[in-house]
Amino acid sequence: MFRQRNLIFAVLFVIFGCLLTPDSGWAGWWHLPQLPSGSVVRDVNRYYDLTPRIARADSNVEVVIRPLYDHCRFKPEAQYKVTYTALDQIYGDSPLPPGKQTDIKPAEDGTIRLNLYLASEQAHLIFIEETLADKKKTIGPFVVYSLKEDLFALRPWKGDFHMHSHNSDGVESPAYVAGACRRVGLDFMALTDHHKHAPSLEAAAFYKDVPIDLKIYGGEEIHAPDNPVHIVAFGTRDGVSQLYRDNPEGEKQVRDEIAKIKDSLGPLPDGVDPWHAAACRWVVDRIHERGGLAMLCHPYWVTRNAHNVGEPLLDYLLRSNFDMLELVSGDNWEEIRQYDQNALQAAMWQNKLMEGVRIPVVGISDTHGMERSEQFGRYFTVCFAPSADLDNLQQAMKSGMAVAVETVRGDRPLVYGSWRLVKYAHFLLKEVLPQHDELCYEEGRLMLQYAAGDPSAAELLGAMRGRVARLYDTYWMK
Ligand SMILES: [Zn+2]
Ligand SMILES: [Zn+2]
Repeated sequence: MFRQRNLIFAVLFVIFGCLLTPDSGWAGWWHLPQLPSGSVVRDVNRYYDLTPRIARADSNVEVVIRPLYDHCRFKPEAQYKVTYTALDQIYGDSPLPPGKQTDIKPAEDGTIRLNLYLASEQAHLIFIEETLADKKKTIGPFVVYSLKEDLFALRPWKGDFHMHSHNSDGVESPAYVAGACRRVGLDFMALTDHHKHAPSLEAAAFYKDVPIDLKIYGGEEIHAPDNPVHIVAFGTRDGVSQLYRDNPEGEKQVRDEIAKIKDSLGPLPDGVDPWHAAACRWVVDRIHERGGLAMLCHPYWVTRNAHNVGEPLLDYLLRSNFDMLELVSGDNWEEIRQYDQNALQAAMWQNKLMEGVRIPVVGISDTHGMERSEQFGRYFTVCFAPSADLDNLQQAMKSGMAVAVETVRGDRPLVYGSWRLVKYAHFLLKEVLPQHDELCYEEGRLMLQYAAGDPSAAELLGAMRGRVARLYDTYWMK
């Protein structure tokens, strides 16, 4: 019940809205260059090493702030005061009085060390005031997030698993698409061409012997015969569409199988076409047989002057055997400006939760050209999992341990999922993922260089391997 209430109340929440200063972490005109995800690395996160950034909740933690450059070192002749607050105002036995300035002395090694008690799951803000010859300046905020053990043990993995190559209606080759995915800051991806599974395997095969950290999985976008519902398979070993596509005998058999399901469905709600319901069930079962998850795609995309999935069918499908709903979606920004399908999908999902329908949500870009899409790299899913291995990611998505993110150009991000994860994701999007994205950007550029025929890029990629894991190791409390 408690969990359900958390879920019900979880919607677009901007936790750091009060901190949206020029150092906010979101790119504005004063902040160039921005990362493809739309974020920037905040200057305190560039100038100072802060450890840990993610700590165990309800524990005593020594937080160390280490200046990295000469211009930001703590000076022996200056006076320092620290102010500590916790965003949710839960303090427990904090050794520092919350909200009040306390004198602090830099340690001999040039760091500032603070002993904090990090109560509950929340963000903790630290400001340092420096006084030097009557001049005062405030440094910060340094932000630490505390997590209960179950979530602390997991790591955030960014992914997009609905996109197209030149093998269907996209622009670039599978190898290019994968390189571009790393460049925009993704840890995992799946290429999902219409009716085709082979391109997703081609992307993986191209980099099979190249030392990369991006995980490339199988997938396709499936359109069953005479069924308007688009269904994406994520992580499938082989294809579903090939069972009937360009295969008259196969198609006959598949139609027979769908007809059998149709006869077994029993009475359906008013307005639900039995063939559509049966075809969806057939596709989802085939995806599951092949080790994949089934995603119900863009229900409120407008095609032929109507929503892609009619309301009675959508309600029926949300209660059927789909693994997840594509809540954030669509690579045509002009279209979204004129008709915001994502806002509708979010509101619909929230209402369904209140009715007790609990389908996990994800975000993807549905990119049809990596260089021309406005949304590529800005619509994605963050999975909370022990690793970015397929079974871990699938488990995270199925169990609701994932959030859907959309960051439209020049704006702050919106995050959808369970409240606990939404709150944490807002911290990550500002304090951790920009640094992550910067590492990915360099690797993605090298992957594209390799795909363009330069084998020396593979050597550089080899030297970079494991950097995101090492970044996370330094950020998470030991
Ligand atoms: Zn589609
Ligand atoms: Zn698509």
